[in-house]
This record gives sequence, structure tokens and C-alpha cells, in this order.
Amino acid sequence: MAYDDTDRTCEECGRWIERNELLFRVRLEIFAEPTIHLPDPAPGKERLAADWNALIARMERMSDEQVQEAADQVHELLEYNLCRECRRELHRRIRLRRDLSRDVEP
Ligand SMILES: [Zn+2]
Repeated sequence: MAYDDTDRTCEECGRWIERNELLFRVRLEIFAEPTIHLPDPAPGKERLAADWNALIARMERMSDEQVQEAADQVHELLEYNLCRECRRELHRRIRLRRDLSRDVEP
């Protein structure tokens, strides 16, 4: 997705980021760990076609919104602007969380 240079608003604090200031883009990717259990390592062609048809039939019954929601549960990509201060704060929070989780690990 191309970055729109016309909107330089920090999406965390709402402050306008001047052109001579650094603007940070955050790209956040959330994805489900692939833990899908395949029923059969080598299903027959008919079985595969039946599964495929059942999946298509299920998706056809879903609204566009439901399809998008299902897709978002598997993969979601968010992008937004941050000013320097909010970028620093985000960095601090991530570091803090990492340090805390390191403490509880065996
Ligand atoms: Zn900000």
C-alpha cells in the first residue's frame, strides 16, 4: 500500500507532524500461528474435491463482512503514522514488555 504523504497526523496523539520533522510509519502484522491439522496427509482426489466444495459453499453463505472477519482472524496488517515522541513511547513499551516476559521465562 502506497504511503499517502498528504496526511501527516500522528495517529497516536493526533498531533500534526511538520514536513521538516521525522514521521514514523508503524507496520503491525498480526497472524495466526499455522496450527491447522490436516485430516489426511494424502487425501484422494474425490475427498479433496468434496472438502473444497464444502469450503466454497460455506464461504458463499457468508456475507462480505464475515469473509473479511474470517480473513482478519488469520492475518491482519495495520499501518499508521507516529510522531517522534509517540514512537519513543511505543519503543519503551515494547522493550518493557520484552524485559518483563524475559523475567518470567524459566
Ligand atoms: Zn504522537
